[in-house]
Amino acid sequence: MSIDKKVTLIGAGLVGSLLSMYLAKRGYQVSIFEKRPDMRKAEYAGGRSINLALSHRGFNGLAAIGLADEIRKVGIPMYGRVLHQANGDVQYQPYGKEGEAIYSVSRGGLNKKLMELADADPNIHITFEKNCIDVDIKNGICHFEDQQTKEKSSVQSDLILSADGAFSAARLALQTKSERFEYSQSYLDQGYKELTIPAGPNGTYLLEKEALHIWPRNNYMLIALPNLDGTFTCTLFFPFDGEVSFNSLKTREQVQAFLSKDFADVFAISPQIVDEYMANPNGSLVTVRSYPWSYEDKLGLLGDASHAIVPFFGQGMNSGFEDCFELGKLMDQYPGDWKTILSEFQISRKPNADAIADMALENFIEMRDKVADQKFLLRKKIEQKLSKLYPDNYISKYSLVSFGTAPYKDALAMGFKQDALFKEVLAIPEIENNWDSPEATQKIEQLLKEFGFING
Ligand SMILES: Cc1cc2nc3c(=O)[nH]c(=O)nc-3n(C[C@H](O)[C@H](O)[C@H](O)COP(=O)(O)OP(=O)(O)OC[C@H]3O[C@@H](n4cnc5c(N)ncnc54)[C@H](O)[C@@H]3O)c2cc1C
Repeated sequence: MSIDKKVTLIGAGLVGSLLSMYLAKRGYQVSIFEKRPDMRKAEYAGGRSINLALSHRGFNGLAAIGLADEIRKVGIPMYGRVLHQANGDVQYQPYGKEGEAIYSVSRGGLNKKLMELADADPNIHITFEKNCIDVDIKNGICHFEDQQTKEKSSVQSDLILSADGAFSAARLALQTKSERFEYSQSYLDQGYKELTIPAGPNGTYLLEKEALHIWPRNNYMLIALPNLDGTFTCTLFFPFDGEVSFNSLKTREQVQAFLSKDFADVFAISPQIVDEYMANPNGSLVTVRSYPWSYEDKLGLLGDASHAIVPFFGQGMNSGFEDCFELGKLMDQYPGDWKTILSEFQISRKPNADAIADMALENFIEMRDKVADQKFLLRKKIEQKLSKLYPDNYISKYSLVSFGTAPYKDALAMGFKQDALFKEVLAIPEIENNWDSPEATQKIEQLLKEFGFING
C-alpha cells in the first residue's frame, strides 16, 4: 500500500475539505490549493451566505470523520414544508415519518468547520489564494496563479483530486486534453437571489421554525430556511427574462409593487427585502454532466466538479459528501490502487449522479407549480398514510433520497413506479373526498398488490 503518496487536492470547499480528511485518515499527505482567501479570517467577506439542507447522505459522509453529531446540534431540523399559497392558505406537509428531518445548516459555518478540522490534521496543508489555471493530466502537474501577486507556480504529485466546483479547472483540462470526454452544461431560465426575513423580538422566529417554507407562484417561487439567530435565509427563484423577471423589474418601485403583492406575508414582516433585492446579485443555476471523471491513476473529479445539479432536491452537497464516502470505501477495498479506485468510482457513481440531476430538475416543477395543485397535495396525504401502513413496502421517492442511502438511480426508478401507481389511485372516483375511507383504502391496497408493492 503506497500510503506515502502525495495528493494535490484542488478546492477547499465543502467536498474538498471533507475529502482531505478521508485521505489523511488513510495516511496520505494532502496539499490543498484553494482559490479564495481563508474564509475563517475575520476580514473575509466573500462567499455565499445561503443555508443548505443537509440530509441523511450528507450526515453519513460526515459521520465517517466523526462530525455528524456536532453538525446536527448546530443545524435546525426541518420536519416538513410549509406552503404559503397565493390566496393566503397555509399548508404543512411532513417530509418523512415522525422524527425524520432534513437540517438547515449554514454553508459558511459548515465549510469553516470542515476547514478547521482539516487544518488541524498534520497530514493536511491548505494554501489559500492559489487559483488552479491548468492541469497537465499526463504528468500530474497542477499550475497555479497566486491571486494577490499573480505569480505562477507548479506542483507535481502522484495523484490530483479535484473538488473545485461547477466550473472546475481540472475538468476543463480533461475536456481539452483527453479523448472522447463527454460534457454538457445546461442553465435554467430561472436564476436566484438571496433575501432575508429578520428575527422577531428577542430572537424569536416570525415563521414556524422547524420547517422549510415555500411560496409557490407557478413560474417562480420563494423559499426560506431557518437560521439559529431567529432569521430566515430566503431564496427567490425567478426568471431572468419575461414579463415578471429579473430583467423586467428594474426600479425600486417596481420591485416593491411586485414583492408586496406576490409575497404579501413576507413583505409585511421583511420590509427591507426591497433593499436586499436591489443590492444582491442574481445567481444562475446550472446542471453539469461529464464523463469520465478520471485520467488513469493520476486525476479524479468529485462533487460539483463532475456533477453539478440544480438545488431543488437539496442534494448537491449531500451527493458530494456521498462521493467522499464511496471513494473512502474503494480506498479501503483497493489500497493504493488508484487506477482501480478511480475507475470503479466513476462506473458506480455516474448513473447515480445522472439520476439525482434528473430528480433535481423534476423537483423544480414540483416545488414551483405542483405544490399548489390539489391532486398533488392529495397524493402527498395518501403517500403519508401508505408509508405509515407499509413502512417497509412503500417508501416515497423523497424519503429514499433524503432519509436513506439507496442509490439515487434506484430512487429514480422507484419514483417512476410510484407515479404509475398514483395515476391509478388518483383516478379512483371521488378519491378527493373519501381517500381515507375503508373502501378507498381497500382499493388502494388492491393497486399496491397489482403494482407489486405488497404481496397479493
Ligand atoms: C442556491 C443554491 C442552493 C443550494 N442548496 C443546497 C442544499 O440545500 N443542499 C445541498 O446538498 N446542496 C445545495 N446546493 C448545492 C451545493 O452548494 C453544492 O453542491 C456544493 O457546494 C458542492 O460542493 P463542492 O465542494 O463540490 O463545490 P464548491 O462548494 O463550489 O467548492 C469548490 C471550491 O473550489 C474552489 N475553487 C474553484 N475553482 C478553483 C480553482 N481554479 N483553483 C482552486 N480552487 C478553486 C472554490 O473557491 C471553492 O472553495 C445549493 C446550491 C445553490 C447554488
